[in-house]
Amino acid sequence: SRKPLVAGNWKLNGSQTLLNEMANVLEDINSQEVDVALFVPALLAAEAVKLGLQTGVQTVSEYEAGAYTGETQAALAKQLGVTYTLVGHSERRHVFGESDEDVANKFAMAQQQGLIPVLCVGETEQQREQGETESVISAQIEAVIQKLGVAALSQSVIAYEPVWAIGTGKTASPQQAQDIHQFIRDKIAQQDQGLSQGLRILYGGSVNEKNSEELFAQQDIDGGLIGGASLKTGAFVSICESAK
Ligand code: 13P
Repeated sequence: SRKPLVAGNWKLNGSQTLLNEMANVLEDINSQEVDVALFVPALLAAEAVKLGLQTGVQTVSEYEAGAYTGETQAALAKQLGVTYTLVGHSERRHVFGESDEDVANKFAMAQQQGLIPVLCVGETEQQREQGETESVISAQIEAVIQKLGVAALSQSVIAYEPVWAIGTGKTASPQQAQDIHQFIRDKIAQQDQGLSQGLRILYGGSVNEKNSEELFAQQDIDGGLIGGASLKTGAFVSICESAK
């Protein structure tokens, strides 16, 4: 059975003070039953590692090193003790214009440098209304499989985040989310059954301390990627506990 993972994504929020508070409250969570990680702004990553947190960055450069001003280097993140990186978060795709191919390149660089990529996928509201949800998600995952082969997914996590549920307070219903998680797992099972059974698939999009338990109880939902509620210590701890 898959160990749940609950991850906070602070986006362009948070502070040194909040990091200290969060490290204090997360210390008490039994890590035998749930993995907890925080995707902090890159400038806080080294400090998060020092505080004993399982740490992720929110994106990495697809380039290994060189003249790429402003980028976050996967190798340096790894050296500093960072464990994970998000790739293809919807804000990277939609605000910063990252394509499926860019995301696959970032996924490859993350793994090459020893980081675990969390591949974020999800449809917009318009795509859902037009019946394109499954084809959009398929293409987002296929871009990685085409580049690296399906085996690469074994050292990764997938996060399903419907764009219409992010930061809107409109959570996918547990059944809606479960349907897509199952679709993703079945799709990967067609290429590698064993891998798909072990793969953690997280749900993200307006998860809070009231709806997390029912979401996480779904068969193919293995935890969550939490935005707004990961900036509040009490809420985030409750969400982590609800994954046990
Ligand atoms: P919210 O939880 O604020 O909707 O954000 C979800 C998200 O984008 C996590 O990556």
